[in-house]
Amino acid sequence: MRLTGDLHTHTTYSHGKATIEENILRAIEVGLKKIVISDHGSGHFLYGVKRRHWIEMRNAVNSMREKYPNIEILLGIEANVVGLDGNIDIRDEEFKMYDVVYVGYHYGIIPHSIKDFVMFYCLNALAKVFPILRRKAMEVNTDALIKVMEKHPIFMITHPGAKIPINIDAIARKAAELNIVLEVNASHGHLTKEEIIVAKKYNVKFAVNSDSHLQENIGSVDRGLKAIEYASIPVENIVNVEED
Ligand SMILES: [Zn+2]
Ligand SMILES: [Zn+2]
Repeated sequence: MRLTGDLHTHTTYSHGKATIEENILRAIEVGLKKIVISDHGSGHFLYGVKRRHWIEMRNAVNSMREKYPNIEILLGIEANVVGLDGNIDIRDEEFKMYDVVYVGYHYGIIPHSIKDFVMFYCLNALAKVFPILRRKAMEVNTDALIKVMEKHPIFMITHPGAKIPINIDAIARKAAELNIVLEVNASHGHLTKEEIIVAKKYNVKFAVNSDSHLQENIGSVDRGLKAIEYASIPVENIVNVEED
């Protein structure tokens, strides 16, 4: 299998080390046909792109399209889950700015309310120490992510199963129903090969991405491809690979 597009890359607008143009140049160099610039949603208090910078990014991506017409360049966002009710850190009027919207769980988000803070931060932190709470944490995290998928026009869930526990079976069932892609993230190692096997029974679509924060990592997805191959996922169920 060969990667055709890297759908998840970061730049200096969040905490990546390369510029938008450097990411694109590397994508061209490694023979990709498509790249998505997908920095962190503004609700992340360390890495989130400042709201005023998204317009700048949109304009930069538009001018890069003119400069490099032989590669497809999209502006995405890796939004954060900020509420138990499925709220994410994109305002309604902002959706039109992005070509694709992804959502993932991250530490360091600014929760929507005190209750969200308690359930996401405290419960997940305690669940690490007290295994008895793990089931409850998983239930809460999974419910919130299902609500996210039901409420918003999401293209992909990034690194499902990384950071905090979720029920992959339930997430994959909902993602397949709503035609939402699950990511096999080569940086975080999630989905794992075991998680891919759980998810594949719903005929869900996968994407294999680098989640690159460095120019040289654009298109580096060997770990993800190995997991996909181990789980015997057919090429037609992966949105960004082709037969070698
Ligand atoms: Zn992420
Ligand atoms: Zn990322």
